[in-house]
Amino acid sequence: TNEHYLSRQARMESSVRSYPRKLPLAIAKAQGCWLTDVDGRDYLDCLAGAGTLALGHNHPSVVQAIQDTLTAGLPLHTLDLTTPLKDAFCEQVRSILPGELAQGRLQFCGPSGADAVEAAIKLAKTVTGRSTVCSFSGGYHGMTQGTLALTGNLGPKQALGALQAGVQFLPYPYSYRCPFGLGGEAGIDAALHYVEHLLQDPESGVCRPAALILEAVQGEGGVIPAPRRWLQGIRAITEQLGILLIIDEVQAGIGRTGQWFACNDAGVVPDILVMSKAIGGSLPMALLAYREALDVWQPAAHTGTFRGNQLGMATGLATLQTLAAPGFLSEVQRKGEQLGGQLRALQNRVGCIGEVRGRGLMWGVEIVDKRQAANRLGSYPAFGELAKRIQQECFARGLILELGGRHGAVVRLLPPLIISDSELALLLERLQAAIVAAEQ
Ligand code: PMP
Repeated sequence: TNEHYLSRQARMESSVRSYPRKLPLAIAKAQGCWLTDVDGRDYLDCLAGAGTLALGHNHPSVVQAIQDTLTAGLPLHTLDLTTPLKDAFCEQVRSILPGELAQGRLQFCGPSGADAVEAAIKLAKTVTGRSTVCSFSGGYHGMTQGTLALTGNLGPKQALGALQAGVQFLPYPYSYRCPFGLGGEAGIDAALHYVEHLLQDPESGVCRPAALILEAVQGEGGVIPAPRRWLQGIRAITEQLGILLIIDEVQAGIGRTGQWFACNDAGVVPDILVMSKAIGGSLPMALLAYREALDVWQPAAHTGTFRGNQLGMATGLATLQTLAAPGFLSEVQRKGEQLGGQLRALQNRVGCIGEVRGRGLMWGVEIVDKRQAANRLGSYPAFGELAKRIQQECFARGLILELGGRHGAVVRLLPPLIISDSELALLLERLQAAIVAAEQ
């Protein structure tokens, strides 16, 4: 039973304190959008491996790909040597890359998202000969020393002292919580002018860094889509100043927002694009795509044993092929618009929802305290405690979701992209009941 597993787990390595253990369940099996625990209870999984499971759990195409790979006797590990499977996977990845990146270089890193971000930073430093990298407040890029330095969340950093030198934060356009109370177009202009000024001012400490790294939709930071015009402005500024633009599509990429990449929405092509999570079709995989001109590393300048997990290429290829089927991504858009509309309607039915943000099947619902005073833009203080209660009430109703954002006050929804309309309706029903219960 769950209790048996959890008490056993409490004595063992897998219950180290750093595991948040917010969801007390032992999973027996999983299929599609559903998890079943060892007691036979079903849960609608709207976390889906933090967006990794684009096709949900054990999609037939993914299972088939694993079986075919084993039946064919293909090698499971080849270091970085090529196989026909790797060729086919790379072709498929190229077919979805924006602009010049489709003719650029693909580099396997790995196997985690953080590994690929690390590689991107090292590459940018090598290419430019400069050492500063800037990231944006609220950004999340991983938990290694270098990627944690780029991550906005202070909690995990506090005990560590100095992380990577030469990392600086820039303000991300989050008008809802803009410290200057600037919203809309004026807020975007102000944010762009400020970034441009910092990047050019020799006294700012961030003058002409090697690179800027950003998420086109911040995920862990609370699902904050960058305004289209802001992202286009950042691309123009970085191009003009010779600063490399790295877009981290680890969470928002591979169909999550209803487009292949979240940056497609603004028509922006980065110099380096980081992929992980869903690109491996359920298995660990991380890679970079970059412009051909950036291919400056000497042999062995950046290596790693698990670059290119063959089974991950099989499952990744199957996933990309499924997502590429006609109508698949437009269905993600349709379902996403429907979900967004329903979440906004929910906002009017309960008393604790502030901003509702998202694109495709990546949504964030900010939980706020409306008993407090609102700021100039009408945003109320974040209410993390209530968000935590909502998460627990959701769990009790068989709905798994994650929290994010500052104070953990954003309820995040990342359901598998294959979620059906009736499952979406169930998600809404359970979320509403959980909010009503938590508010009491
Ligand atoms: N970048 C982004 C945008 C992410 O969301 C994550 C993981 N949540 C990472 C990087 C790090 O990936 P990993 O946990 O695989 O190292």
